[in-house]
Amino acid sequence: MLVVGAGSAGSVVASRLSEDRSCQVGLIEAGVMPSDPDIADPLKWTMLQGRAYDWAYRTVPQPFTANRVHEWPRGKIVGGSSCLHAMAYVRGHPDDFEPWAAAGGERWSFSGLLPGFVRSEAFTAFDAPSRGRSGPLDVYLPDAEVSPVVRAYMAAGRAMGISALTDHNSGELAGTSPNSLNIRAGRRLSVADAYLPPEVRARPNLALLTAHEVEHLLLEGQRATGVAVVRDGETTTVSADRIVLCAGAVSSPLILMRSGIGDADTLKQAGIRCLADRSDVGRNLQDHLLVLGNVYSTKKPLPPSRLQHSESLMYLHGSDITRSTGSPDIVLACVVAPSAADGLSAPPYGSAFTILCGVTHPTSRGRIAPSGPGRADAPIIDPHYLETEHDRAVFRTALKTARTIGHHPALDEWRDVEVLPGSAVRSDADLDAFVASAASTHHHPAGTCRMGGDADAVVDPDLRLNGFDNVFIVDASVMPTIPSGPINAAVVAIAETWATASASA
Ligand code: FAD
Repeated sequence: MLVVGAGSAGSVVASRLSEDRSCQVGLIEAGVMPSDPDIADPLKWTMLQGRAYDWAYRTVPQPFTANRVHEWPRGKIVGGSSCLHAMAYVRGHPDDFEPWAAAGGERWSFSGLLPGFVRSEAFTAFDAPSRGRSGPLDVYLPDAEVSPVVRAYMAAGRAMGISALTDHNSGELAGTSPNSLNIRAGRRLSVADAYLPPEVRARPNLALLTAHEVEHLLLEGQRATGVAVVRDGETTTVSADRIVLCAGAVSSPLILMRSGIGDADTLKQAGIRCLADRSDVGRNLQDHLLVLGNVYSTKKPLPPSRLQHSESLMYLHGSDITRSTGSPDIVLACVVAPSAADGLSAPPYGSAFTILCGVTHPTSRGRIAPSGPGRADAPIIDPHYLETEHDRAVFRTALKTARTIGHHPALDEWRDVEVLPGSAVRSDADLDAFVASAASTHHHPAGTCRMGGDADAVVDPDLRLNGFDNVFIVDASVMPTIPSGPINAAVVAIAETWATASASA
């Protein structure tokens, strides 16, 4: 079996499948092993973007975000995007997975995924039947380290009737709590750190091939016989009886399309011969946006974050922030730093905090397509950000809610003035304009090889590529819909669930 991509999903799949010593597993990764010490430092996560191990994708200009091009960092390294991510661990609300169950059956419902969540997790803050204690992936719930300004922000929420939660993964999601983080002993724990430690990488039946980029699949009829890979500019082939694409929501559909599997017109425009006309490959792209910059200057110096800056998410129902059940539609995040989009000026570090806001269930749908036949041709990434009035309207509510909390008396000790958007921004048109100028990716692209039971679905409920017997896709691309929260926990649960089913098949 050949696993393509040693990111979040690929690390889990290769680790779990190689537990069976009779299963020979090859794991191919375009990047190399991490060596930059900054990766492990939670405070440095925003500085990693643009370094050698970032694919550094860019979107096409987005008409509803003031025609801006958005940077899309993605990890090109063993550990994938979990080496760059912000470490927030959020499973999502159980209702988020109902569309998954409708698409693929009960195993993809929250209760179907729960054993995978539990198996993955090392959570020791308290005992709960829905939580795992002895899995590989540490989930750390901070307490004493939480910044005083974040405590005041959570107190403001509670004073407004928002539910106080122990954390976001033990029941309901709507409410306020410190962020749960993939941190062990003060250091980032990537999914590869957790699932591919040296003793796993030393297994005789697991071969990790780094710095090898898969160009395309080698197809014969309804089967793949292997992959074409490039190393140092040289192309070779690797044979396999079974191929599992774990290359992520950008790269998995691109590999399919470079192999001739995709929408016939799209492939023609990219100069690729179409072998299987599959219109949905690369479509259904979903991503969360965050509006950077409801920024407040502080009356006194703000001590630096002791975690990863963004210390508390608050999930809410915009129509009634006191509602504590059901899947929330907005999210706020308190950041112990000024966080403003490019082109907007904010006070220096240590003299401002920010309340970010976002929409948990965007209805805009985008697409990813190749611009040419080779891996060096930059992908066309068009998320169609804020294309629907639904998304723009919910963003207005989210920003208004952020400001209400930011101006609450519980923050009086810290807040001086609202710097961004600033008091002049009041009308809905003003809010729309600010959102358009300040919305940035929350880094959660998903859905580009959606799973479903219908004929157009890219993969079936077993995550098998429709029309091909021995190709599977297991990563963020198979999500039919994006969950409420950051999606890494769900990616790991998908991989755990698929690996367990595959091992017993
Ligand atoms: P990835 O982890 O991206 O793995 C794909 C792997 O495949 C990579 O290692 C890549 O190099 C490799 N690959 C790709 N193409 C090829 C090829 N052709 N040949 C060989 N190998 C290939 N999520 C959260 O839950 N919480 C957060 O706080 C959070 N913050 C984020 C912040 C940033 C800056 C980023 C970038 C992401 C963040 N995410 C967060 C999202 C989360 O990290 C991803 O959703 C998750 O890692 C996706 O897992 P994946 O396995 O689908 O893809």
